[in-house]
Amino acid sequence: MEDVHVHEVAIVGAGFGGLGMAIRLKQEGTDDFVLIERGDDVGGTWWANSYPGCQCDIPSNLYSFSFARNPDWDRAYPMRDQILEYLRDCARRFGILPHTRVGCELLAATWVADAQRWELETTTGPLAARVLVAAPGLLSEPSTPDLPGFERFEGNAFHTADWDHSDDLTGKRVALIGAGATAVQVVPEIQPRVGRLHLFQRTPPWVIPHTDHPVAVGMRDLYRRLPALQKLSRAGIYAIRESLAFGITRDRRWLKATELNARLHLRRQVPDPKLRARLTPDYEIFCKRIILSSRWYPAIQAPNVDLVGSGIAEVREHSVVDGDGVEREIDTLIYATGFKPAELPIAERIRGSDGSSLAEVWQGSPQAYLGTTVAGFPNLLFFYGPNTNLGHSSIVYVLESQFAYALDALHTMRQLGAAEFEVRPEVQEVYNEELQERLADSVWNTGGCGSWYFDRNGRNSIQWPGFTFEYRRRTRRFDAESYRLASAW
Ligand SMILES: Cc1cc2nc3c(=O)[nH]c(=O)nc-3n(C[C@H](O)[C@H](O)[C@H](O)COP(=O)(O)OP(=O)(O)OC[C@H]3O[C@@H](n4cnc5c(N)ncnc54)[C@H](O)[C@@H]3O)c2cc1C
Repeated sequence: MEDVHVHEVAIVGAGFGGLGMAIRLKQEGTDDFVLIERGDDVGGTWWANSYPGCQCDIPSNLYSFSFARNPDWDRAYPMRDQILEYLRDCARRFGILPHTRVGCELLAATWVADAQRWELETTTGPLAARVLVAAPGLLSEPSTPDLPGFERFEGNAFHTADWDHSDDLTGKRVALIGAGATAVQVVPEIQPRVGRLHLFQRTPPWVIPHTDHPVAVGMRDLYRRLPALQKLSRAGIYAIRESLAFGITRDRRWLKATELNARLHLRRQVPDPKLRARLTPDYEIFCKRIILSSRWYPAIQAPNVDLVGSGIAEVREHSVVDGDGVEREIDTLIYATGFKPAELPIAERIRGSDGSSLAEVWQGSPQAYLGTTVAGFPNLLFFYGPNTNLGHSSIVYVLESQFAYALDALHTMRQLGAAEFEVRPEVQEVYNEELQERLADSVWNTGGCGSWYFDRNGRNSIQWPGFTFEYRRRTRRFDAESYRLASAW
């Protein structure tokens, strides 16, 4: 790789994380960076997920970049197309497109100690950089269950994150697996047009009424003319959301009002007590992500919907057989089965100073310091990394905290004339012990549900156990004392 230009920074992934970091670099005057994205466009989650009904569940006055305000949101909780357009617009507006290579997948990234740089193999050729920012997303690798007999299935099958728009489902017999955040958005959209919908629900979710509403044109005008008003709305949403973190991690009594809201919602929308019992979760509220919908219960009570609780025992050529042995003829099988957050393929592709990959070091339980840096992997900044996910607020807020930390790391390197930073293993260890101790009492760990927050070793490697302002405070400054720094050879 002798003749390859060595960028100051290479960023992998063009979602909110990678794109936001690119914008912040540009704003800070760093121009020598490259942003690669395996998809055909920027947008990440919001490019990949095009299923009907796809919508954010945090109001976009908060779920957007603080440095790229948008007064034009047409709903409190915008639909996917508008969020994607916002991200595309950010890429254009902040001059990121000339740095961006779409359709470019990272195949391998190796830390070359002698040269103090990362060498990247991608589907469009080699790259090199002093610092590697991995922003591959947490919810970017679809998870599909292995269904016995699936290889015989002759109908159409797809995951919600890879929606097949050529199959318009009209009049079709559809099996949809899952009753989580995605299923709740998809089902009300497709139920009116499918012939029959067999909905395979393993665990019912807690659902509260949606508070979405259009944003009046006058309000948008006001936001344009008085930016402080939108900032105020952002702060208000942030504060309300943060109060939930108190309940989740400190005092569950705080969550009782939300539980009551969910129970009343169920009672109001589902008159049949037997069905209500099947739709009542047997675990604590917030143990899994809470769901907003005013259309889910009406949709699943429609005459063309069967709610199946016994799972899928077998798939045949044109049918599925449920756990009670009932065979159901189907044309299309849809997986609304979520993602594999703790088993990201990129972890197998990034190799640190002793040649081991992140996956080999992690052994199924991802760990980092501040969810961002990993011992043994110099000059690597991992975004939306281990234990940075939230159950109550905007991931963009977490990502912006990581941008600040990353920028300060670069700034510190320049200031100290350092060519390498690597978190000290003991710092990472103490940090993770603290997180796990705090998580032990959280509703996620003790609320009686199984969830994707737990990795294959049964460890919660996903959730941040506190307020987001604590995370922001801890990432505000690059704490050089927690790192081994080395100057250029
Ligand atoms: C349907 C859905 C709804 C959501 N709604 C909300 C919400 O309302 N509020 C909220 O806070 N969060 C929500 N999330 C979480 C959401 O993922 C984050 O808010 C945010 O979009 C994460 O941004 P990111 O850039 O870290 O990851 P992503 O948006 O996932 O982007 C990562 C990018 O990295 C690319 N990539 C991965 N590996 C490689 C590779 N090897 N080479 C090149 N490129 C690669 C991927 O293709 C992807 O484009 C939602 C997630 C989903 C799936």
